[in-house]
Amino acid sequence: MSAVESTRTLAEDLAGAGEVITDPDVLEAYRRDQAAPGLLRAGVPAALVRPTTTAQVQAAVRAAAAHGVPVVPRGAGSGLSGGANALDGCVVVSLERMDRIVELDAAGLTATVQPGVVNAALGTAAAAEGLWYAPDPASREFSTIGGNIATNAGGLCCVKYGVTRDALLTCEVVLADGRAVRVGHRTRKGVAGYDLAGLVCGSEGTLGIVTEATLRLLPAQPRASTLAATFSSLVEAGEAVAAIVRRVRPSMLELLDRATLQAVQELEPLGYEDDVEAVLFARSDAGPEAGPREIALMQELCDAAGATLSVVSDDPEEGRMITAARQLAYPALERKGTTLLDDVAVPLPQVPALLAGVEAIAVEHDVLIGTFGHAGDGNMHPTVVYDHRDDDQVRRARAAFDAIVALALSLGGTVSGEHGVGLLKTDHLDAELGDARALGRAIKDAWDPAGTMNPGKAI
Ligand SMILES: Cc1cc2nc3c(=O)[nH]c(=O)nc-3n(C[C@H](O)[C@H](O)[C@H](O)COP(=O)(O)OP(=O)(O)OC[C@H]3O[C@@H](n4cnc5c(N)ncnc54)[C@H](O)[C@@H]3O)c2cc1C
Repeated sequence: MSAVESTRTLAEDLAGAGEVITDPDVLEAYRRDQAAPGLLRAGVPAALVRPTTTAQVQAAVRAAAAHGVPVVPRGAGSGLSGGANALDGCVVVSLERMDRIVELDAAGLTATVQPGVVNAALGTAAAAEGLWYAPDPASREFSTIGGNIATNAGGLCCVKYGVTRDALLTCEVVLADGRAVRVGHRTRKGVAGYDLAGLVCGSEGTLGIVTEATLRLLPAQPRASTLAATFSSLVEAGEAVAAIVRRVRPSMLELLDRATLQAVQELEPLGYEDDVEAVLFARSDAGPEAGPREIALMQELCDAAGATLSVVSDDPEEGRMITAARQLAYPALERKGTTLLDDVAVPLPQVPALLAGVEAIAVEHDVLIGTFGHAGDGNMHPTVVYDHRDDDQVRRARAAFDAIVALALSLGGTVSGEHGVGLLKTDHLDAELGDARALGRAIKDAWDPAGTMNPGKAI
C-alpha cells in the first residue's frame, strides 16, 4: 500500500482526471459493451472518468496505479467481445470527450485525431478535403477511432484496403505507470525500432490508453460498380469467391447464407427465391472504366461457378438496392432474439467448409445460426440467436458458439478476425496461439508490470 493510498481516497486522487463520476446510475451505463448479454461478466466500477486531455488521462491512470485498481479504457462501448466490460472496483476511462480532429494534413494525406473521434466524423472531415479514411466497420457511425485502433477494426473495404492497422501511422499511448509515449512513425514508411504502433493496434486497451493517433488517408474513393449473385449451393458460392480473388481486387466481397436471407426476407421481402443457399455481393471501385470491366468479369466468374441469377449496376443508388440484403443481415437476425455474433476467419478455400460446418452445428445444438460476412477475407459472422432469459437457450448458444470457434481452428483459421478476444474468447487462445501466448503475456508484463491495464482481456 503506497503512502498516497493510506491518506487519500481514490476519488480524491482522481481529481486531476477531469470529470469524475461515482453515481451508481451513471456507472451502470458504463459497465458493459455490446457483447452477448447474459454470457459475460461485467463488474461494478469504483469510478468513471471522462477526460478531455492526455494530462487528465495520465492523472487517472496514476491515481488507479497508486490505489492498485484496474483501469478499463472505453470508447463508444460498441465492442462485441466484452473488452470494455468493467471490472469490480476499476476506474473506467471513457475517451468519448476527447473527440477533436487535431489536424487534417491534406498535403501529407494524414489526419491526427483524439481517440474519441467517431469513425464517420473522420470520414466526413476527410471527404471535405477530397480524401477518404478507408477502415469502415459497420459501427462506423458510432464507434470511436480509439476503439477501432484498440480492436484493429475491419469492415467491408478491408478486402482491398486493409484493416485499421494498415491505416495507423503513429499514436500516443498512456502507459500503466502514467507515462505518455509516442509509438510508430508519422512518415508513410518507417522501420526504425520494433513496430510498436502495430502492437498497440489490436491490444484491446491492455498495453495502454491511446490518447492521439495519426492515420493515413487516401484519395477519395471512386464511384463503385456493384454485383449481386445468388447460388443454390454453398460450395458453388465458395468457388465463385475463390475464382474472383485470384483475378480481381474487389473493394467488397460479402456473402450471406440461407438462414440469414430468410431472416432478412421476414423483415423485408426482397423477392429472393426459396432455393437460394447463398448470396454474394461484390463491388469494384477501380474507376469509371476499369470498375465496370472488373464487375463484368466478377459476374462472369459467378456465372461460371453456377450462379442462378446475377445482376450488376454502375449506379450507386441501384448498387445500394441490390445489396440491401447484406445491410439488413444483422438487424434482421437481431430482431429474432439476442445475438451472439462470432467473427472467426478461415483461409479462403475453407469458407464453404466453415459454412457447411456451421449449418451442422445449428442442427446439433438446436439453435438458429445465420451466417454472413466478409467472404473475400475468409472472415465470417456466424450469428447464434437465442433468448438470454432462458438458461437452456443460453447454454446451447454458448455450446454452439464454442463449436464454431473450434471448427474455425480445425480449418486452419483464427478465433477472431476483427472483434477481438476481450472476455469472450480467452478460453480459446491456448488452442490457437500455443507457445506464442506466453510471448504475448511477456509483452503485457513488460508494458504493465502491475497488471492493472484492462487485465484479463485479450491475451
Ligand atoms: C452493430 C455493430 C456493428 C459492428 N461492426 C463491426 C465491423 O464491421 N467491424 C469491426 O471490426 N467491428 C464491428 N463492431 C464492433 C465494434 O464496433 C468495434 O470493435 C469497434 O472498434 C469498437 O469501438 P468502440 O469505440 O465502441 O470501443 P469500445 O467498445 O468502447 O472498446 C473496445 C476495446 O477497445 C478498448 N479501447 C477503447 N478505446 C481505447 C483507447 N482510446 N485506448 C486503448 N484502448 C481502448 C477497450 O478497452 C476495449 O477493449 C460492430 C459493433 C456493432 C454493435
